[in-house]
Amino acid sequence: MSQEVSFLEQVDRMFEKAAGYTNHSAGLLRQIQMCNSTYAMEFPLQRDDGTIETIRAWRAEHSQHKLPTKGGIRYASNVNEDEVKALATLMTYKCAIVDVPFGGAKGGIKISTRAYSDTELQRLTRRYAYELTRKNFIGPGIDVPAPDYGTGGREMAWILDTYNSLTREPLDALACVTGKPVGQGGIRGRTEATGRGCYFGIREACSYADDMEKLGLTPGLQGKTFIVQGLGNVGYHAAMYMEEGGAILVGVGEYEGAIYKADGFKLADVIDHRAKTGSILGFPGAESFESSKVVLEQDCDILVPAALEGQITTENAPRVKAKIIGEGANGPTTADADAYLAERGVMIIPDVYLNAGGVTVSYFEWLRNLSHVRFGRMNRRFESTTVTNILEAVENLSGKRISEDDRERLAQGATEVDLVNSGLEETMIHAYAETRAIAHDRGTDLRTAAFINAIDKIAKSYTEMGIWP
Ligand code: NAD
Repeated sequence: MSQEVSFLEQVDRMFEKAAGYTNHSAGLLRQIQMCNSTYAMEFPLQRDDGTIETIRAWRAEHSQHKLPTKGGIRYASNVNEDEVKALATLMTYKCAIVDVPFGGAKGGIKISTRAYSDTELQRLTRRYAYELTRKNFIGPGIDVPAPDYGTGGREMAWILDTYNSLTREPLDALACVTGKPVGQGGIRGRTEATGRGCYFGIREACSYADDMEKLGLTPGLQGKTFIVQGLGNVGYHAAMYMEEGGAILVGVGEYEGAIYKADGFKLADVIDHRAKTGSILGFPGAESFESSKVVLEQDCDILVPAALEGQITTENAPRVKAKIIGEGANGPTTADADAYLAERGVMIIPDVYLNAGGVTVSYFEWLRNLSHVRFGRMNRRFESTTVTNILEAVENLSGKRISEDDRERLAQGATEVDLVNSGLEETMIHAYAETRAIAHDRGTDLRTAAFINAIDKIAKSYTEMGIWP
């Protein structure tokens, strides 16, 4: 097998493969493929002990065919410019696949969060936000960051506060970043959105009886075994919803190693064990491994890599036993491993579709910030009263009483989180059906189909702008 290439080259290879199924001109395809702008920065950080360290960071805006651009910020010791560009590129395609009207972007700071105190992390996050603001690389209509690996609501709140203190246009400033805590203009349901979206996508994939038959599986999630690598934001929530949906968790990989138990364990018990002992290793009744990657090779129906890219390579792909791989992380499967697994008939639900739940709900958060009103605030009471009136009319006509429980359930009106979750579910179901239909029509795997879909939608956008014939 050939030597693995860089993440960016892998994304480019996937793009080129899909582009071959389209009939757009070479110039337009190049415009869609290339990363438009990258800001590479180095800035000083004063450590708590008084020493000064230089921090490397990037923000890449891949495509401005729709504005703002959008994408997470990752804190990782191995992040580099190429990776940030690759992730920004994936964001452009991801947004197109789930019809979120944004271009793609991504940011990265080259640090291991475990090596810095909270005050140091705050200082460097604020400095990064300052750099972005000064160079016009952030703003509600320009570029809107979000959490990614190593960042969360706390970092987003620091970025908002820094941006707020610098902007001359405070009215819509809340929309300069998403994934904020709810009290800081965030939206309910955003934290769990990527994992929940992964669950919806995997559930959809498992719902097609003919696709499952080809894998030797029965339709539905119920009773299917799964393994998750990474118990962070994406992996934890994906595992939680899959468990709720009837799937059985049999393996977990984290940075300290992995555990596996063929007849399954409960996610909550693993979390509890880790909280008590500081590690998932040694979980009662499970086999423990020193390496997290070993978990990828254990027996299961569905494998959910949800930690980092480049985890499934040509080296370990021959030992992967899962029939379905649901890519929670970005780029967990290298291009060569992807080709090998596809050849073997493994169904890969690609990252570019499967983890789009985060950006979908980020879009809802951005809309909420710009409209300055919580979803459901204007209509919840009205809906509730309307349904109550209908129920009373039904009771009067039928002469039968509807139980208090049923009345309460039917007439409650949608809350913000109900609307967010239903918007997310609809988005994931629709995008899966669209991607699957292209895969069937063109005879491709799901990843190529998702890329074809993205390329066609972005090309349409450029054509409609009159930039390309
Ligand atoms: P996170 O920081 O919340 O979680 C990552 C988890 O992986 C952590 O628990 C960490 O300890 C664990 N981990 C680190 N090294 C590991 C290793 N070698 N083996 C196993 N586990 C390891 O990050 P996240 O937000 O969950 O992001 C995970 C992936 O999902 C990334 O690829 C990210 O780009 C992608 N993603 C995240 C979002 C989002 O909304 N957070 C959206 C789309 C895609």
